[in-house]
Amino acid sequence: MDEIRLKALAKINLGLDVTGCREDGYHLVRMIMQTVHLFDSIQMVKTENPGIQLTTNMRFLPADEHNLAYKAAKIIMEEFAVTQGIRIHIRKCIPVAAGLAGGSTDAAAVLYGMNQLFALKLTAKELAQRGLTIGADVPYCLMRGTALAEGIGEKLTRLPAVPRCPVVIAKPGISVSTAWVYQHLVLDAQTQHPDINSLLKDIRKGDLQQMASHMGNLLEDVTIKEYPVIAQIKDFLNRHGALNALMSGSGPTVFALFEQLEDARSAADALRESGLAKQIYVTTLFNV
Ligand code: ATP
Repeated sequence: MDEIRLKALAKINLGLDVTGCREDGYHLVRMIMQTVHLFDSIQMVKTENPGIQLTTNMRFLPADEHNLAYKAAKIIMEEFAVTQGIRIHIRKCIPVAAGLAGGSTDAAAVLYGMNQLFALKLTAKELAQRGLTIGADVPYCLMRGTALAEGIGEKLTRLPAVPRCPVVIAKPGISVSTAWVYQHLVLDAQTQHPDINSLLKDIRKGDLQQMASHMGNLLEDVTIKEYPVIAQIKDFLNRHGALNALMSGSGPTVFALFEQLEDARSAADALRESGLAKQIYVTTLFNV
């Protein structure tokens, strides 16, 4: 095999709680991760000349070791002393610095692709171990589907699939640094934590309405204080028929779950007209 084409899928967080902080500064989390059918397209081609050539359709994205996809290819090439080279093209569709794990999912796809192209026979667990050295969300991006992520995000428990309902994904015209959000998070006795346990019960029962009502993200307080447009988008989507709307990850992207595709489409159209969000997609949850 000399070439492979992959879809690197985005994630949303149906629930996100932070329970503490490790001595090394990493936060301890309890997150419900969910893959959505919004993806970057990745093409990987083996070359006779050694080295990594990375291109993307976004001029502002790094094309060197600062790109997580490049890092993923490099880790594998060095460890397995690969003598051939690799050409990678990423066509980005997932909004960048948005709380959708765009970089992590590209890295996961490249790890997967390197394993296939160079017939390395790494198991899923072995790929996840290498993914964790790139970022805490990479093991989940390799796993996909619905999962509980604990520890720093790397302890994964597969959950039953959530019904493949329509979802509107809306990013306002701002970018948020994950590091900034965590730096400004204050955990004390007054902190209102989302009810992750109820969310887990609803998912295990397959109860979409209840699940939507228990969705919560502790980081909303931090990001919304700085960018109130996030709360405006949430309110807008809730007033336009969503089961519920929530910020994903550290933001600023908001997602909203719907029961009917037509309702999701008309809410997205109305949101476009409002001018509150810059990038708006209508898609569905993705199950493995
Ligand atoms: P998370 O949800 O994991 O916090 P995010 O969606 O907020 O991630 P990314 O889209 O992964 O954020 O981008 C964060 C930063 O990572 C950007 O500033 C970007 O320059 C850098 N980056 C490195 N590689 C990539 C990539 N392949 N795609 C997008 N961004 C990348």
